[in-house]
Amino acid sequence: MHIDKGKCVGCANCVPVCPLGAIAVAADGRATINLDECVECSTCYRGLSQEHLPGWLIRTLRRVLKLVRLRFEPDPDVCPTAAITFDTLAWPRTLRAAFSDPIVPHESTGIGGRGTAEVKTNDVTGRVGPGQAGFVVEFGRPGVGVRFRDVNAATTALAAAGVTFEKNNPVTSLMSDVPRGQLREDVLGEKILSCIVELKVPLGRVPDVLRVVEDVARRVDTVVCVGVSTPCDAQGNDPLKDMLTGLRYDFYRGKVNLGLGRRTNPPAQEAAPSPAGGRS
Ligand code: SF4
Ligand code: SF4
Repeated sequence: MHIDKGKCVGCANCVPVCPLGAIAVAADGRATINLDECVECSTCYRGLSQEHLPGWLIRTLRRVLKLVRLRFEPDPDVCPTAAITFDTLAWPRTLRAAFSDPIVPHESTGIGGRGTAEVKTNDVTGRVGPGQAGFVVEFGRPGVGVRFRDVNAATTALAAAGVTFEKNNPVTSLMSDVPRGQLREDVLGEKILSCIVELKVPLGRVPDVLRVVEDVARRVDTVVCVGVSTPCDAQGNDPLKDMLTGLRYDFYRGKVNLGLGRRTNPPAQEAAPSPAGGRS
């Protein structure tokens, strides 16, 4: 994203719209974008209506009104001169839009947003079977963002703990060495709004993974959220409940799927006992 300085009249309407605080009005009275902080989310472009008033007209009007101590300000939800402009992005900057702009789909999964349906669709995908725990570890949020360098610190630590990363996930698709959780060198400096690392382990390894996530969360320069889920047993009990409360985590059911979808898991898993479909 960039701002056409020839058009911008420095009204500052775009400044509070940016979730990363990447826009500021510079000393020359025109807005500018800090491209190192910008995550290409397009909020500034889509969040403001674009009017097409000539910049020279607004500047002249302001100068005249100033003589009589009046001001001209456009409505706060408008860029009066359509000065905010899309750039054609090149790799690896394209990743910023893919992970930050909800209408840009991920090439690896074809899904927009963070590019993953997560384990909330487990009732039909069967990714996480009985006796397994599926984790979603989210890095960054609006207002903070995250660099892939910090995501890499987490994925390499998780890999060392013996987790299995979900194949159909955009972060996994950026790994040059999946068993080691190593992301490609050329993406490490890129900043995005947020991403979700998905992995699974045997149920008994849940405390180990949580310890790794807690340790990583203290070291990285962003916020980290973690969720863990498993199929309920045949009686509808959640095997994670006692484990998580024993580790002093608040336990609640984030989502309960009803199993109304068409199952897509492969035949080998079809033979396993059918989960009741719950999720913590
Ligand atoms: S809203 Fe448009 S005219 Fe106003 S400061 Fe931003 S880019 Fe410039
Ligand atoms: S594209 Fe997003 S991050 Fe970049 S300047 Fe616009 S609102 Fe801010």
